[in-house]
Amino acid sequence: MKSHYIFILIAFFAISCASSKLKLNNWQKLPETAYTIPPFSRHLAQYKIALDPGHGGNKEIPGYKRGPSGKREAEMNLRVAVELKHFLELAGASVFLTREDDSFVALKDRAAMSAATGCDFMISLHHNASENPNTNYAAVFYHLTPEQSVVSMDLARNIYFGLVEALRLPQVLDDGLLSDRLFYPAGYGVLRRSAIPALLLESSFFSNPREEKRLTRVRYNRREAYGIFLGLARWAAGGVPVAQKIEPTHVSISKKPVLQYSLSDGIAGENTHKLGEQLLLPETVVAKIDGERVQTILSKDLATLTLQPDSSLSNGYHFARIDFQNMFKNSNFPKTDTLIVSAPVDSILFECATQYLPADSVALAPVHLSFYDAENEKVWDSVKVNISVDRGTVFPMSPKLRDGQTTVYYQPENELGLVRLVAASGAFADTLLMSLIPRGEVRTLTGKIVSDLTKEPVAAVKISLNDSIFTTTDGNGRYFFLNPPAGGDALMIEKTGYAPQQTPFLIDSLKSQRMAFSIKPNLGGLLFGETIILDAAFGDTVTGDFFADSLAAANANLSLAKELFLFLNWAGAKPILVREGDTWSSADDRIKFVNPIPEGWYLRLVYAYEPTDSVKVQATIYPANKVGEKIAASILEAFRKIESSVGVLAQNIEISEVTLTNKTALEVKIRCLKPDIRYHAKLIFKAIINYYKTEQLPTQTQN
Ligand SMILES: [Zn+2]
Repeated sequence: MKSHYIFILIAFFAISCASSKLKLNNWQKLPETAYTIPPFSRHLAQYKIALDPGHGGNKEIPGYKRGPSGKREAEMNLRVAVELKHFLELAGASVFLTREDDSFVALKDRAAMSAATGCDFMISLHHNASENPNTNYAAVFYHLTPEQSVVSMDLARNIYFGLVEALRLPQVLDDGLLSDRLFYPAGYGVLRRSAIPALLLESSFFSNPREEKRLTRVRYNRREAYGIFLGLARWAAGGVPVAQKIEPTHVSISKKPVLQYSLSDGIAGENTHKLGEQLLLPETVVAKIDGERVQTILSKDLATLTLQPDSSLSNGYHFARIDFQNMFKNSNFPKTDTLIVSAPVDSILFECATQYLPADSVALAPVHLSFYDAENEKVWDSVKVNISVDRGTVFPMSPKLRDGQTTVYYQPENELGLVRLVAASGAFADTLLMSLIPRGEVRTLTGKIVSDLTKEPVAAVKISLNDSIFTTTDGNGRYFFLNPPAGGDALMIEKTGYAPQQTPFLIDSLKSQRMAFSIKPNLGGLLFGETIILDAAFGDTVTGDFFADSLAAANANLSLAKELFLFLNWAGAKPILVREGDTWSSADDRIKFVNPIPEGWYLRLVYAYEPTDSVKVQATIYPANKVGEKIAASILEAFRKIESSVGVLAQNIEISEVTLTNKTALEVKIRCLKPDIRYHAKLIFKAIINYYKTEQLPTQTQN
């Protein structure tokens, strides 16, 4: 009995000794889960968070984003998102899911929806894959550089360690925050397109058989979600600082405006432990105007920031941005404030073709005005100006400025004498003096030219009289001749994209005359304003095939592009040649040239040698590009006119220029014995016309 008692006592000591000693466990052993919503997570309540479960749909594709036993990443991602949403909502946050089921959502839509629904930031949830089945670690991807993604970095480091602690994966990266440039020079599509701070998590590797198995269990998905949740809660508890512009509130008439911002550390618990100052890191405060760093003065309580540009800003829009960190090293959300500088008018330049006008109530003299500030810079276009005259009439009396300039039209009255045309803006005014003299001593021919189709004024129309004197219409479609030669004249009207007109015209030596015209757009304006980018393949030493008379494909391509250019120009389109001479540029250079062009579509032209009488035309588009397909179909149709021709539509990603431009793009390759350049250009031109005709049909029937 006794010995038994002693044994129990010893056992008790042994247990209590062991429990007071630190016992090391295997790192990978997952700790007991006890999910709680910590008090500090309440700071998440002010945020709306976009959760983006990666992938979705595409279930029919075998092996697509699947683990070794076939489990789909899309499903794992969605389960984690749903669990994470639950935790975040318990903490009071609002959550938006970019997909709630196994459906396909385009990358651009994920980013666009997240911003459009007013989310503050987006977390894209993924799991990783590797050829090595042992690989298994967590990584958090940010966009481009840490400097370009400051708020994302704050989120990233908190989430990263949340994940690492929650999942206890066998590998832990020393640099677990990774740039999305590692895979694409421009970064991940979903991050690149996001207007709000965004991250992409690759929480673990589903290509690891053990991990794949774990990832199929909701319990494990919840563990991961909790790790992310804790990371977000820790970030939110650190507070997010805010810089709020106080001054100037309106347009600044000073060109060196003083800007004032109030800075707030964003840390909750106002005035409890603050010693009367903001808890922020003064050295981190950076102020920029139009991207240029500007010196700042921070008030003693660190609550007010004052800055002023070193040199005068130009009239118009500017952009100010303040960045800083609070004591938790959390950064403010990037925000750009608009600043409008508008110095008052200090001088006016009047330009008029004549100081002497006939007192005939017919002449209409354009007066061009330019408005300058005290630094001799053109004023901002929203500056108000007023025009008045003491005799005759002037219009418009409150003209709008463009580049600080405008044109008004003065119409005399029938009495002789001095005219004072006054231009005024704010406190400033200046006068142009003109004289009304007897009709017959001076005469004018004026008028307006409009489009036959739209009845809108047409600018830059060339009008010539007898081929000897000419003028062009201004922005209002108006023209003005002073003392045109009296007698019979031939009046010629020309503008690219419109049918030229020639009219016999009689000019009275004693009278001013007005004459309005309307001009007809070629093809009814079908191609007006359409940008079409023509790229002649090859160039320089890269000749392509050779044809008879040692004609190189490079040169044939260029001639074809130039012919097509002339046709398109005639039709009022805006054709652009990627190369204009016998020069070489790489596919990369061509793409770099094409992508910044704000609109239009791209056509690559290639001739190839084919020792037969038939002409083989291949149009290549990026797979499933609907617009490209329609244009291609129209071109192939046009070439059917050539007897024994063969047309093929190809959809592939083999032509870099077609695949990588940001526009609808296609290549037309013409295989033939001898390029019939002008004819081929005509066929392609007709095909383009037909394409636009069919494209415009719906709107025409609506009208
Ligand atoms: Zn993925």
